[in-house]
Amino acid sequence: MRTVAVTKIGSLRDPDESTRGRIGVVDFPEQPLGPEDVRIRVAYAAICGSDPHLAEGFFGTDVPIGLGHEISGIIEALGDRAHRNGLKVGDRVAGNFLRFCGTCRPCREGKQQFCEHIQDYNRPGMAETVTWHESQVYRLPDEVSLLKGCLLEPTSVAVRMADKTRLAVGDRVVICGGGPIGQLALQVMKCHGATSLTMIEPIADRREMARRHGAEHVIDPLGEDQQARADEITDGCGYDVVIDASGSPHAVRGLLDVAAKGGTVVYGAMYPETFEMPLNLSDYLYRKELTLTGVFVSPYAFPRALQILPRLDLDELTQAVFPLDDAVGAFAAHVSGTYPKVVIRCNEVEDTR
Ligand SMILES: [Zn+2]
Ligand SMILES: [Zn+2]
Repeated sequence: MRTVAVTKIGSLRDPDESTRGRIGVVDFPEQPLGPEDVRIRVAYAAICGSDPHLAEGFFGTDVPIGLGHEISGIIEALGDRAHRNGLKVGDRVAGNFLRFCGTCRPCREGKQQFCEHIQDYNRPGMAETVTWHESQVYRLPDEVSLLKGCLLEPTSVAVRMADKTRLAVGDRVVICGGGPIGQLALQVMKCHGATSLTMIEPIADRREMARRHGAEHVIDPLGEDQQARADEITDGCGYDVVIDASGSPHAVRGLLDVAAKGGTVVYGAMYPETFEMPLNLSDYLYRKELTLTGVFVSPYAFPRALQILPRLDLDELTQAVFPLDDAVGAFAAHVSGTYPKVVIRCNEVEDTR
């Protein structure tokens, strides 16, 4: 079964070809169909900002490493007992690449993100088929195409970010980082009643995209005085909610200063493992009473992500579609930043919607 994989560890951005990481299409065996499993013929798999981190060996260095966790497709087979969610062959679906076992201690304590068996069903979905446990699979709403449906997983991350902000209607919100997660978070926070909604982003195209999708203000952190602009927009109060979706050590500098007293700051990206942020406890936690938190994965958010998916404008995030055979080209396009998001078509599947 053809699967997109990391075939050589290294940065995909390395200018030196001899040390650069490599992506290829390899042949993996089809995963076994257990009694509670669902086999999906994958229609689309989107490239995630975290995929290049896998190429850098962030989660292990034994190649090939299969990729793909943002997928949609059609059910082609069900295990004997995989009927608890009413799923049927032919259903248009998307889902969570992680299975939460429901049995271990964190799962039983309502903290599925820390499930001790979280990797058991984490299978590469940038492939002809993927086989998941039925609990991972969600039927797409009729009004959502398979192409847009592959964004259910990143949308679930934006929903979980919103959960962690504990936003109250009318709160002032700023998002740092106009990549796909930042853009989705922007739309989700807009639906959620955010005000003074601001995107901090150095790339002009991404700032414009944010404007088209509901940002009331944009800040160019390189060309403008970020703090002065934030003060101006919030009348000197700061933002009640600050979300980082950039993952950049450079960009997160200064974010605590744009937060309002008593505000919440959500670090919603993957950060370099060795990066340590200086944090003046007296200023930010004692005097300012900030709440700092993060997002690892997104349990409990998928049903609500499904509800909100038809309300999001996903056109610009689904413009660049490459065939599976040209996965190398797709990753080159992703790395170049030409498109806000790159999607791989894994099979020619007729969308019956
Ligand atoms: Zn992702
Ligand atoms: Zn568990």
